[in-house]
Amino acid sequence: MPDIASEVLRRRTFAIISHPDAGKTTLTEKLLFFSGAIQMAGTVKGKKGGKFATSDWMEIEKQRGISVASSVMQFDYREHVVNLLDTPGHQDFSEDTYRVLTAVDSALMVIDAAKGVEEQTIKLLNVCRMRHTPIVTFMNKYDREVRDSLELLDEVESVLKIRCAPVTWPVGMGKTFRGVYHILLDQVILFRAGQGPLDDVEIIDGIDNPRLDELFPLEIENTRMELELVRGASHPFVLEEFLAGTLTPVFFGSAINNFGVREILDALVDWAPAPAPRDATVRSVAPQEEKFSAFVFKIQANMDPKHRDRIAFMRVCSGEFTRGMKFKHLRLNRDIAANSVVTFMAQGREQVEEAYAGDIIGVPNHGNIQIGDSFSEGEALAFTGIPYFAPELFRIVRIKNPLKLKQLQKGLQQLGEEGAVQVFKPLNGSDLILGAVGVLQFEVVASRLLNEYGVEAIFESTSTYTARWVSCDDAKKLADFEKNLGNNLARDAADSLAYLATSRVNLELTQERWPDIVFHATREHA
Ligand code: GDP
Repeated sequence: MPDIASEVLRRRTFAIISHPDAGKTTLTEKLLFFSGAIQMAGTVKGKKGGKFATSDWMEIEKQRGISVASSVMQFDYREHVVNLLDTPGHQDFSEDTYRVLTAVDSALMVIDAAKGVEEQTIKLLNVCRMRHTPIVTFMNKYDREVRDSLELLDEVESVLKIRCAPVTWPVGMGKTFRGVYHILLDQVILFRAGQGPLDDVEIIDGIDNPRLDELFPLEIENTRMELELVRGASHPFVLEEFLAGTLTPVFFGSAINNFGVREILDALVDWAPAPAPRDATVRSVAPQEEKFSAFVFKIQANMDPKHRDRIAFMRVCSGEFTRGMKFKHLRLNRDIAANSVVTFMAQGREQVEEAYAGDIIGVPNHGNIQIGDSFSEGEALAFTGIPYFAPELFRIVRIKNPLKLKQLQKGLQQLGEEGAVQVFKPLNGSDLILGAVGVLQFEVVASRLLNEYGVEAIFESTSTYTARWVSCDDAKKLADFEKNLGNNLARDAADSLAYLATSRVNLELTQERWPDIVFHATREHA
């Protein structure tokens, strides 16, 4: 039997975050390449060494009736088991995107070096900062004309509020991209376009090596000058600061050319933390404990109307999961027959044989599982820290057929509890207001209301601009606030009171006028 403590130590669970188009998908593919999880395009290695073509995987998926895109991938690298979690972007951006960050121990941030720090990266980094998540940074697309490297570091430091410790440094860019200098190893790694994942790279030792002047005198001279500046302007890599989330090691490269990718994987394995203890309200749970425990951080709806099942994604927090074992859904105090639990491999999913802290397992959910639910072998644990984020998009929901009001309320109650969307009931008036962080959430809700509850809903725009949950130690002051601002107040699916502001100015003025009321941009799962 495997030793749980050593299984925990070898695990690395990280999310890959970026603004759309920075190269997240490309980099993910190359990471899988390097790990050997993808042999060639379209071929995936099975867990026990067998090979399956992608089409076989798709057939397996079809048979199981699962059409959820793979957003969790597990692969081996060196002596480690790596769990990589995708954070969906574009219009798929949703509350799930944020919550994925509660299930990881570190994050890999990809930045398009031609563009610098972009909006979605800022949002995701805000959540990472709240949680002190260690961040590894990859500056991508150096095979193109990109921005000045020092300026990029400066932008990361000032906008994302994290110190930068360059570990590699680019030599040239675009047509004259020659490679990267590894600052810690004092080696130049030469760039070759279209590098295969297993191709040996050519390495030249020492930044002052005359061979570099023979190969590309202009670029290396420029790099040496920049390095002088870098030494003055940036920070040395300090492991403790990285682990505290205050400093990020920065790597440069080109994902599409497989260049600079191995260095990132090595950093994640060598520096990023293994699963740590987690707060479960009654006590802290250590990952190497014998008994299994887990919590749900994401529920993915199946968009295929023929299959209503949804997958609840659980992060294992302790112990050992083995196929066929039983565990308890603590909120409902009910056993889960876990024979249909799946794990996520490079491009498909398979039955879980065993899983340890840091691993993600998926359980088909027929509506009983909610975001934030905890599971154990019996002990009453309640993992904390699964936040709800103040929505940024709002819609009033109406129904075509008024006789369906009951079904609408029931549907929204359940979708709200599940975390698919946030539902606000204003204190005054009968409208229901939906809040989301991504537009796709409204579409998902509309289609699920129709398919699962038989309700045709119409969404209309509202004057709400943003929401803040409110609290106050003084019950009398809170009652006063409620009485005065009833038209702007609502209760969410968990019955928490929220202030719906009509503009940023409106929010600021209200905060000024009511100094004793605390306004929260996040709410933790009750
Ligand atoms: P995502 O939206 O972050 O997942 O980005 P993708 O991986 O889909 O990449 C967006 C675009 O950038 C695609 O056209 C990629 O081919 C391109 N791309 C990714 N990495 C590189 C790179 O290293 N260099 C160049 N020139 N293009 C890249």
